[in-house]
Amino acid sequence: MYSTTGAVRPIIQPWFLSTVGMGTCRFMEIVKYPHPALRWKSSPVQAINAELRSTVREMFELMYEANGIGLAANQVALPIRLFVLNLLADPAEKEEEYVFINPEIIRRKGNQEAEEGCLSMPNLYGDVRRAGEIVVQAYGLDGQGFELTVDELASRAIQHETDHLDGVLFTDRMTEAARREIDPMLTDFETLFRRQQEQGKFPSDAEIQQQLQERTP
Ligand SMILES: [Zn+2]
Repeated sequence: MYSTTGAVRPIIQPWFLSTVGMGTCRFMEIVKYPHPALRWKSSPVQAINAELRSTVREMFELMYEANGIGLAANQVALPIRLFVLNLLADPAEKEEEYVFINPEIIRRKGNQEAEEGCLSMPNLYGDVRRAGEIVVQAYGLDGQGFELTVDELASRAIQHETDHLDGVLFTDRMTEAARREIDPMLTDFETLFRRQQEQGKFPSDAEIQQQLQERTP
C-alpha cells in the first residue's frame, strides 16, 4: 500500500537525542470532542528523544486498545505535530506501524469519498470527500525524512490525521446534509464533556489551553 518515492534531508539532528526530560511518567488518554486540544493548531516537534519515543509507544497502545488505525498527538492532548498509523489496527503487525513526525502533504490529486470515524468521537460515522492520491513527507522516529505516495485508505487516514494537527475534525469536512444528521451527537458529546468539567475530571477550557501553550515545543 505504501510506495517510497524519495527521501528528504533530515532536519532533526542526532545530538538532540536524550537531552530533554527523560521519561516523565504521564497519564495519557484519548480525549473526546469538544476537548480544546482537538481545536489546537500544533507546533513542530523539535527533538526526538526518549520522552518522545515513549509518547509514541503509548499512543500506539491507546490506538490499539480503541481498535483504531491512526492517532494524532492532539488526541492525547499534546500540542505537537505527530501521528501514528497502523492500517491493520493489529499490534502484532509491527511492520505496519508508521510514525509521522512534522508531516506535510505536498501534493494532492483526484478525489475519493468514503465513510470515516474518529477515536475522539466514538460511534459517530459519516462520509467525507478527500483527495485521492497524496504525496506526504515526514520524519520517522529515527530522524530520517521519508516521502510516501499513497491512495485509498492510507491517503484518507493520513489526511484525517494531518487535519488533527491543525485542529480540524472530519465532521468539519462533511457535507452540510451529513453534518445536520450528526449534529445531535455532537451536542451529546458537548453535554457530556461540560458535565465532566463540572465534576472536575477536566479543567476549564481556558486552563486546558494554558497547559497546551506550556507544552508547546
Ligand atoms: Zn480522528
